[in-house]
This record gives sequence, structure tokens and C-alpha cells, in this order.
Amino acid sequence: MISKNIKPETQKIKSRWHPSIRQVQIIENKPNFPISWLNTQGYCEYSLYLENFQHIQVEDTQQMTTGTDEHQILEDEFKKTATVMSYDEMQEISQKQKVVSREFFVISPSDGIRGFIDEIWIMPDSVVIIDDKPGDKAYDSMKNQVYAYALAYQQMNPDDKRDIYVALRTRLTDNIFWQTKFTSNEKYQIKRLINHMQQLITGKTFFKPTSNSNKCKACRFNQVCDNSISIK
Ligand code: SF4
Repeated sequence: MISKNIKPETQKIKSRWHPSIRQVQIIENKPNFPISWLNTQGYCEYSLYLENFQHIQVEDTQQMTTGTDEHQILEDEFKKTATVMSYDEMQEISQKQKVVSREFFVISPSDGIRGFIDEIWIMPDSVVIIDDKPGDKAYDSMKNQVYAYALAYQQMNPDDKRDIYVALRTRLTDNIFWQTKFTSNEKYQIKRLINHMQQLITGKTFFKPTSNSNKCKACRFNQVCDNSISIK
């Protein structure tokens, strides 16, 4: 069975944009940031500062543009056969059969995170959260991103006792190149990182630039970054 969810539950959540930080919302008096930031943070958290706190705009990289295009291809393909149904209906049906959804919205006001899961399989005995990536190398930053999706999903479904698995897949293929069960260890790890992000957002600690010159060399901010160590 294939379905496409809508998000009636999350529409009840009241939010407002942060007055000065891009992409951050205030929900239940707490900053709420996009889960995709965790992937960027693993590359260089100072780039988050430049883009969202300093509002410095630079062109997207070719890889970003390609990624957006490929996401759209997958989404369009999925919609051709997907059935629209409510979140509650989908949860109910998944008790008996596998339900697949894409661009599945999750949010945790208590952790201050939100995002769209590329693909989710909700089955009678387990849930699989999949993020599509270019290539097939599982970086820690990518793992952190899927851990945060799992955490938000869990917070939205506190009574759901099904095991949750997280996975990374090569985009436009069926190649799942990394997967693991989301256990209390992963939960502890991601909560620590999210707490660090909240400290950054609230100014209690400062964004650290990378010390890897190769990252600076490939970074789209390297021409405007005061901490760039790329060899120009
Ligand atoms: S140029 Fe280097 S230090 Fe500056 S944002 Fe990019 S990766 Fe970080």
C-alpha cells in the first residue's frame, strides 16, 4: 500500500518566525530549527552562522541544485500513485499493512526541531526512516540528521512502541548503504547535539569554524568567510 500523508496534527501548533535568525521558528517559547541543519553542522557549524545569523547569501552549489532537482523527481514520481490520507488514518492502516510516505513532516516542540523525512515506511511491527543522499558514504552528520527525524517521530507518537530504524540510501537508487536501530544510545547522542544547537541559537556558545582546509576549499562561503582557511 502506498499513501501520501497530510499533516493535520502539526497545523494545530502555533509558531512564529524568529525576529532575526533565518529558518528558526519560536514554538512553545522555544527556538525550533530545521533538522537539516545537523547535516550542515557536521560539515562546519560556522556556515550556519554566516547564512542564518549574518544573513549572508551566496549561490547554491551544483551539488545542492542537483539534489533539489532529484528530490523533485522522486516526489513527482511518488505522487503519481500516492493516495492522500490523514495522519491518523495512515497510522491506523499501518497497524495492518505497510504504508509508505515521502516528504513526511515531523516536529518536536520540546526538542526544538522539525523537518521533512525523505521517505518513511510504517509497518505493523516497525518504522523505517530513510534519507536519500548523494553517494554511499555514511558521514556522522548524515546519521545525526536521521537520528533527529527518529526522535521527532517518537515524540509525535509517544504511545507507538514499534521499533524505529534509520537508514541512508543513495539517491535515485534502492541502495541502502547504512542502517541501524534507533535505541536509547542514539537518542542520548542526538539529544546532546540538539542541546548544543540550542546553545548556539541562544548565544550561550559560539559557532566553531572547521579546521579542515579541504572543507573550506569546497565551501560556498569561502570567498566571504572571515575564518576561511582555504588555499585560494
Ligand atoms: S569557509 Fe571554512 S570556516 Fe568558513 S564557513 Fe566555510 S567551511 Fe566554515
